[in-house]
Amino acid sequence: MNLHAISYEWQGFEPSLYMYDGGSGEVSEFDFRRVDYKVSHPVTCVGSWTEGKYKPCPRGRIVKGGNVCDDCARDFLPDPDCMFEPRCDGEECGMRFCGQEHTVYIAFHGFITKVGLTATKRLEQRMVEQGADAYATVAMVKGRRSARTMEIAIADELVLRQRVRGIESLAAMREPCSEDDIARDHAKLADRLEPFDHRLSELRFLRDYPIELPLDGMPTSVKPGGQHSGKTVGVKGKFLVYENGGLKALNMQYLVGRHIRATEAGP
Ligand SMILES: [Zn+2]
Ligand SMILES: [Zn+2]
Repeated sequence: MNLHAISYEWQGFEPSLYMYDGGSGEVSEFDFRRVDYKVSHPVTCVGSWTEGKYKPCPRGRIVKGGNVCDDCARDFLPDPDCMFEPRCDGEECGMRFCGQEHTVYIAFHGFITKVGLTATKRLEQRMVEQGADAYATVAMVKGRRSARTMEIAIADELVLRQRVRGIESLAAMREPCSEDDIARDHAKLADRLEPFDHRLSELRFLRDYPIELPLDGMPTSVKPGGQHSGKTVGVKGKFLVYENGGLKALNMQYLVGRHIRATEAGP
């Protein structure tokens, strides 16, 4: 069976890969944790969701640098620029999203601390998607541009990062830091935020990822296209870690937009 991966998401600490079957027109979940499948090289447009109903890309376009074509993106993102670098609080671009309440947060990925923003109602889900070990909130702000302004100010004032690289997330799975270490970083940061009139919330740990840490070694990142087979180690954030002559890390976000076929090749 050849299925088109259309989204990868977490509900609580359960990751799911959703697939569209062009034959039956149905959307179903794919058991990606049973690592025995072949993934296509080209990425084709994932289509769009309107009012809870999935609509495949009418042209089945191949896309580069993303997984949705411009036509389908317009269905749910009339102004993608405002999504990526917010310039309004909902009054300009007309996207309801920009006007929603956003939270500026601090996420702890092992010893790395980053500042970020997300729609308040997606906060915990967003932290889990990113594979954070813990987080705390700085403020809730009406509108996306206001949240972005605060995020940049905090990043500048405290010299904090806004991104964590994949290889750093993997290294943190190999050598996780203790909760005491994170609590110490959190307390230091709370002190440093005070002069700027920001109050850091209590720390919330995210402990229930389906993976046992530390890993036995540093996983090697594998390209998404091609055959994947082996024994599943676990999933954290965007990474599926599996064992096949050493630990491999597959970025699940890169599977979205590709065609996947279950195989019985075995390692
Ligand atoms: Zn499309
Ligand atoms: Zn906007």
